[in-house]
Amino acid sequence: MSKTTDTNDSICPSCNYEVDTHEGVNHSDKPSPNDLTICFKCGTWNKFGPELQLLALEDAERDSLPADLIAEMEMISSKIKKRNEN
Ligand SMILES: [Zn+2]
Repeated sequence: MSKTTDTNDSICPSCNYEVDTHEGVNHSDKPSPNDLTICFKCGTWNKFGPELQLLALEDAERDSLPADLIAEMEMISSKIKKRNEN
């Protein structure tokens, strides 16, 4: 049973981790297409595609994000990466 929001077959394109929960960044409840998410396993920034599958976030898309959102996401992914070092 998934603890939070169900996402259908979300596989991180970076590490192939099957994501059944996600860190909400710019959404409060359910993910929608184009919502951003961060892989809990590897800290990679992804986004949800039209079928809510996970897609890699391209550099150009990342660069176009608001600075405060980038700062928030970097904080989250650095926590994940730090956790992975331990
Ligand atoms: Zn990953």
